[in-house]
Amino acid sequence: MIPASFDYERASSLDEALSLLAAGGEDARPLAGGHSLLPLMRLRLARPSLLVDIGGIDELRGVRDDGDSVTIGALTTHHEVAGAAALTGGLLAKVAEGIGDPQVRHRGTLGGSVAHADPASDLPAALLALDAEITLAGRGGTRSVAAADFFVGPFMSAADDGEIVTGVRVPKREGWGSAYQKFQRRAQDWAIVGVAAVVNWTDSGIAGAAIGLTNMGGTPLRAHAVEAALTGSSEKAQILAAASKVSELETPPADENASSEYRLHLAQVLIARAVAEAAGCPGMQR
Ligand code: FAD
Repeated sequence: MIPASFDYERASSLDEALSLLAAGGEDARPLAGGHSLLPLMRLRLARPSLLVDIGGIDELRGVRDDGDSVTIGALTTHHEVAGAAALTGGLLAKVAEGIGDPQVRHRGTLGGSVAHADPASDLPAALLALDAEITLAGRGGTRSVAAADFFVGPFMSAADDGEIVTGVRVPKREGWGSAYQKFQRRAQDWAIVGVAAVVNWTDSGIAGAAIGLTNMGGTPLRAHAVEAALTGSSEKAQILAAASKVSELETPPADENASSEYRLHLAQVLIARAVAEAAGCPGMQR
């Protein structure tokens, strides 16, 4: 279909983009890679009156090492995140390299994925598991919101109208392993369920774990009950028992790809695999 008519402006700086969005009112939207917004516009599920193209704002691009954390600019593409494993600690790179196809990865951006707040998107679950912060700029200044507080509902985030996601800040976790297990029907497709695991494996077993879930609820979820049960585990049976605690979360959605029960089953299997992979124990994966 053809989108409803809209105005288009291209901003050359963050300040200019914020001014254009403010002048455009509540129906003005930033345009980054366009790989989520434009399909919605073509289906007329989104009808912005004004698109403010932020794609030319270089200050929103790139990966920066800040010592104890890494900052990734909102306009950094999935392809660029995938290529920055050494800087991002591995998990985000692994997740990004499994998003869509090469065209999607070269156009789609980290900030767009975060702002879109689709519970089926891959990066938000990883950002939750990594205790990342989302940084935002508005006409009133800048602020940061913990990923745990940012995703408030399906396609709804804590960003206010007129605010722009400027990037994410990811604390470093030296010595922790990570993995992302994504189950999809077709290659290069969305996750039916995805599991991001960050694990501190020691000689006496798991000393700490963080688990983020994709497409298991109305928002990306953190599986705190699973994490608590994983702590102290060192054997496959214990990890499987901990993974079963995922049933204590909200009932997962049912759709044409999976029933709630099947999603729950997938989540348990994928948590066990992701934890074993993150811990560096491939023998425990199956
Ligand atoms: P846009 O489409 O430009 O914007 C999306 C939304 O975010 C809009 O509402 C826009 O106004 C807003 N926005 C964008 N940037 C900002 C910002 N900096 N600040 C505030 N608001 C902003 N994703 C996955 O996670 N996994 C997949 O497997 C996957 N497969 C895909 C397959 C296909 C065929 C396609 C078309 C997309 C797929 N995607 C997938 C989505 C893809 O990752 C998108 O690129 C991403 O979700 C949105 O990024 P974008 O830069 O394209 O954002």
